[in-house]
Amino acid sequence: MRLSRYFLPVTKETPADAEVISHKLMLRAGLVRQTAAGIYAWLPLGLRVLKKIEQIVREEQDRAGAVELLMPTLQSADLWRESGRYDAYGPEMLRIEDRQGRDLLYGPTNEEMITALFRDGAKSYRDLPRMLYHIQWKFRDETRPRFGVMRGREFLMKDAYSFDLDEAAGRISYNKQFVAYLRTFARMGLRAIPMQADTGPIGGDLSHEFIILAPSGESEVFFHKNWEEARSVEDYNVATDDTEALQTFVDSMTAEYAATDEKRDEAREAEMGDDLLRSRGVEVGHIFFFGDKYSKAMGLRVSGNDGSMITPVMGSYGVGVSRLAGAIIEASHDDDGIVWPEAVAPYKVGLINMRADDEACVAAADDLYARLEAAGVEVLYDDRDERGGAKFATMDVIGLPWQLIVGPRGLKNGVVELKNRASGEREELSAEAALEKLA
Ligand code: ATP
Ligand code: MG
Ligand code: MG
Ligand code: MG
Repeated sequence: MRLSRYFLPVTKETPADAEVISHKLMLRAGLVRQTAAGIYAWLPLGLRVLKKIEQIVREEQDRAGAVELLMPTLQSADLWRESGRYDAYGPEMLRIEDRQGRDLLYGPTNEEMITALFRDGAKSYRDLPRMLYHIQWKFRDETRPRFGVMRGREFLMKDAYSFDLDEAAGRISYNKQFVAYLRTFARMGLRAIPMQADTGPIGGDLSHEFIILAPSGESEVFFHKNWEEARSVEDYNVATDDTEALQTFVDSMTAEYAATDEKRDEAREAEMGDDLLRSRGVEVGHIFFFGDKYSKAMGLRVSGNDGSMITPVMGSYGVGVSRLAGAIIEASHDDDGIVWPEAVAPYKVGLINMRADDEACVAAADDLYARLEAAGVEVLYDDRDERGGAKFATMDVIGLPWQLIVGPRGLKNGVVELKNRASGEREELSAEAALEKLA
């Protein structure tokens, strides 16, 4: 993409209500714009990030055996009357009336709708187990939308739902999602710590929030210092079809202490001494086994192999896809701007022509651009007639992993410059060598 044809409104100033760094940087880097309180337009560069995050989430859901579908944003209130949640949900639900006087709502979540769809389509025990998911916009009329896309009112969520014949099978689905979550966040360069969360009246220990550490986080969290070790997706390469190995792995992941302030275990903390750390955290995912809560209320039943009727048990599994864009920036930035992990970067390379008025520079940069594109490298080419300093500042704030700089002095010596955004390291090399390194 040539910057001269792109839409990238970078800014220096940010509004006073942008309190946290990710919100400021998302505005400065031209990723999003607020169009109404807690409602955002995703500008071209931001949309690319959102799509990359979404794709990683999708790949890991698919790997876990979940099947993608797409449910609408608008839902009929009658569905929610079946579960009893229409009245219970409260003012976070945006309620709408159509011209016929029918009550609709903008979905804050989809348990009711997926239960109705599965009720309609699943007839016997052979139709289970199943996991279904979609990636769709949600609306919650938050009392205090803030922190940009991290607490919006309209936000993109991946929500998956599991259907199983009994609780033991439900636990397997839960474990599969648990591993999918660890892998998903690790692939984005995030360390997300699974923390036991409230299960409400159902009880049990089958609810975890996945929390990343960040000073701007809204939850206070307490955890064993072992969680500070860097982990990569290779650490989560467990085969999800081996039930026993899966359980052992999940047990090992939950053995190390980690709790939000509502779930603290004072006795355990007292034994930990200096091993106990405290921080603030952002909830990026939440998984939850809730048994027959919706299946029972909504009459979802399938026939068993002996002809008896079985009420399936369910779980739901949410990831804050749009919140993650902010959360990743919270975890990865410096004084000059965003530092995108390569897996979610909107482009891999920012190509800078220092002199748009110099024929040799234009020719060399155009050539590099064409060859990078031909090699399938995602490149944003700053071909504008601007000062070099302004170009550097733009590239730094938008945080692409690599900057490839073409200038008249280097060209005379047959070299271009390659800068690594994260480490700041610069290297002079031939165009050929640069291409080899980036392709
Ligand atoms: P929070 O505690 O932050 O209000 P929640 O517990 O209400 O979140 P869930 O119902 O568990 O949210 O939804 C699943 C995921 O959706 C959350 O883990 C979070 O990542 C994301 N999410 C929830 N509310 C918002 C929001 N207002 N803006 C952006 N993402 C959100
Ligand atoms: Mg909430
Ligand atoms: Mg929460
Ligand atoms: Mg939650």
